[in-house]
Amino acid sequence: MMNKPFEYFAPKSAGEAVSLLKKHGSSARLLAGGQSLVPLMNLGLAAPRQIIDLTRIKKKKDPLSYVTANNDSLMIGSMTTHSEVERSRLIRKHCLILSETAATIADVQVRNRGTIGGSVCHADPAGDYLAPLVAIDAEFRAINSRMKGRTISADKFFRDMFTTALKQDELLTEIRVPRQNRPRRGSAYVKHKYVEGGFAIVGAAAVVSLNKDGSCDRVSVVLSGVRATPLRLGEIEKGFHGKSLDERAIEEAGQLAYEEVREPLSDIHATSDYRREMSRIYTKRAIRLAAARAGARETKKKEEG
Ligand SMILES: Cc1cc2nc3c(=O)[nH]c(=O)nc-3n(C[C@H](O)[C@H](O)[C@H](O)COP(=O)(O)OP(=O)(O)OC[C@H]3O[C@@H](n4cnc5c(N)ncnc54)[C@H](O)[C@@H]3O)c2cc1C
Repeated sequence: MMNKPFEYFAPKSAGEAVSLLKKHGSSARLLAGGQSLVPLMNLGLAAPRQIIDLTRIKKKKDPLSYVTANNDSLMIGSMTTHSEVERSRLIRKHCLILSETAATIADVQVRNRGTIGGSVCHADPAGDYLAPLVAIDAEFRAINSRMKGRTISADKFFRDMFTTALKQDELLTEIRVPRQNRPRRGSAYVKHKYVEGGFAIVGAAAVVSLNKDGSCDRVSVVLSGVRATPLRLGEIEKGFHGKSLDERAIEEAGQLAYEEVREPLSDIHATSDYRREMSRIYTKRAIRLAAARAGARETKKKEEG
């Protein structure tokens, strides 16, 4: 139950929203889909004195909900809902991993209200978008109360549990992701959850690029749910260049993940040991699926069953 009163503002433009943020300082909070903020307020874990509702911003004049593309990237407005990310034809074609990720979030009701921008700004360590966005080298565009824009790379955006690089008067406007549908490149997100529609105990995002001869050019794996911020598995990135991504290599990658994920988070849903073991398993699954999508022969056969 919400037991603290608050002032409600419904700005008509992004500029008005950031001016309100500046005016009210740290006691104000932006409201996007409300699927994280409102539960926190209901539980008494957040008590903003001002709520600045982004849903009333004029869609034609100042859109924050859109998906567009240029030759290199997709641009996704911060107020784009999980359902829109899941169903967007542009995202499905050029960045399948993001549609796949959105589809794993909660249930239809939450996906219809929750937004990609709200999700990354909330920066829950178990949030699903975090690992894939870091793995595909996404960038975040923000504006401040002087209407100055800046770009923050996903690697630098997540600072701590529920903490991002955004300043108090900044609004996230857009997420840019490099197009992923390149020849011999595949990506995948898989997650281990404690109930259907639940948060990730461990989420693994993998991006695999193959050379023309079928050997591995690059493999990146980022995990969510194991640390306060997404964990990029550097040993895997270093270890497979020029090698064949066969089952033996994938087993080796799983072991590297297990070794790199030292002392992961522990909570009522899963112990550290369990998360560590799941990191091994889900790293292997993510690489296997990404490699099959990139066209690796052995993994493709295995994925096809
Ligand atoms: C039952 C349930 C199950 C869920 N399961 C999952 C799950 O499996 N996986 C998962 O990833 N998530 C899950 N979620 C969370 C869901 O994805 C939320 O939609 C998301 O975390 C927050 O997005 P929102 O648009 O609702 O943001 P809000 O709740 O409105 O805001 C969240 C935070 O971000 C800030 N914010 C929002 N937009 C901006 C912006 N543009 N610029 C700057 N700051 C901003 C707000 O001030 C607030 O602090 C679940 C939620 C519920 C209620």
